[in-house]
Amino acid sequence: MTGTHGRRLVLLGATGSIGTQALDVLTRYPEVARLHGLAVGGSRPEIVADQVLAHRPERVVVSDPDRADAVEATIASACRTAGASIPRIEVGPEAVTDLAGALGAQDVVLNAITGSVGLLPTLAALESGARLALANKESLVVGGHLVTEAAAPGQVLPVDSEHTAIAQALAGVRHDQIDHLVVTASGGPFRGRSRDQLAQVTPEQALAHPTWSMGRVITTNSATLVNKALEVIEACFQFDLPEDRVQVVVHPQSIVHSMVTLVDGSTIAQASPPDMRHAIGWALAHPEKLPGLAAALDFTTAQSWTFEPVDEDTFDAIALARAAHREGGGAMAVYNATNEEAVDAFFAGDLTFLGITALIRAVLEHPERPRAERADGVEGLLAVEAWARRTARTLITSAEL
Ligand code: NAD
Ligand code: MG
Repeated sequence: MTGTHGRRLVLLGATGSIGTQALDVLTRYPEVARLHGLAVGGSRPEIVADQVLAHRPERVVVSDPDRADAVEATIASACRTAGASIPRIEVGPEAVTDLAGALGAQDVVLNAITGSVGLLPTLAALESGARLALANKESLVVGGHLVTEAAAPGQVLPVDSEHTAIAQALAGVRHDQIDHLVVTASGGPFRGRSRDQLAQVTPEQALAHPTWSMGRVITTNSATLVNKALEVIEACFQFDLPEDRVQVVVHPQSIVHSMVTLVDGSTIAQASPPDMRHAIGWALAHPEKLPGLAAALDFTTAQSWTFEPVDEDTFDAIALARAAHREGGGAMAVYNATNEEAVDAFFAGDLTFLGITALIRAVLEHPERPRAERADGVEGLLAVEAWARRTARTLITSAEL
């Protein structure tokens, strides 16, 4: 393949759903990049050790200090058994950010961490000049202005099926030719349910996504439609459009990954069977195309694709996110941080399924909610986030929801 030789990859979140699929892509297409370093939370030591042996990174970072010893021992023993050299192992969130900023313009960072902890590594990667393949949508939701200001044109390539689809549909389209974006949503496992039926939902039911296999937070977010809400904001920042030009439509088959409607009334769609390796490979190899990367659609058998409006009366997550985006000034950071706390509380049995968006609304409407001005920078945002997390936890334990 032309254009990618010698590129080095830093992979943040290597043991997750996106991270493991990214290494799959690298194994099949070694010409795309060589793994320079990986970062993980630390909960799956055996998988990290297998990855180290298979890809021989020079640097490994474990963000959770309590898990670092176990990961280090597992890697060391696997390397000794295989006669391989042991990579440099660093510990802590600062080391993750340091790794994210370690390479230069010819290289690529894939940020596949879950949650707003991905923001500082995102900013470090942008500052280094490396291409940023961005799965961690939370960093764009929480720090949209900071990220777009730090990014050079074309530096951020989205790794999210909807946004990857839109980026592909926009090839050859000028910004002033866009009328609006149409983000598709599977509708999640509870499409068609009423609020009464949602009141009884358990974590196990929320984890049964109809079309995608993903990490726990994003799967729960898909059930509440918070994921789609975050994706509306992600699209606003990624493609520089206001929220009222980003529509959402339910498409249960997850084949049309999103669309762009142009000013002349034409709609351009990107379609392929649901497989995140398509989005990952697209972002890593762009502008090259990887032959055989994922299965293509087969039109020799009958199929039907359906589209329907979102039931916004039952699922209020998207409307709340639109309001947060219109307001700006840290409201999106509050939205996301509260959701992260709410998902944890839902799994701990301390919050109901409907309580998740009720909590987001309550924290957003809190009379003492601080604002973050642009001038406050990343510290201002992190302070607002910390306030949101504290307030969310207080509301959860006060049993007002
Ligand atoms: P996951 O929970 O499966 O994996 C998260 C990974 O991040 C794990 O390797 C974990 O060890 C690591 N991690 C956690 N905290 C870390 C930290 N502080 N530093 C370094 N590593 C850390 O999540 P996922 O489903 O792979 O999703 C990752 C991101 O990609 C999320 O932002 C998600 O919204 C986005 N995304 C995922 C999919 C998907 O299909 N899974 C699709 C689109 C977007
Ligand atoms: Mg998506």
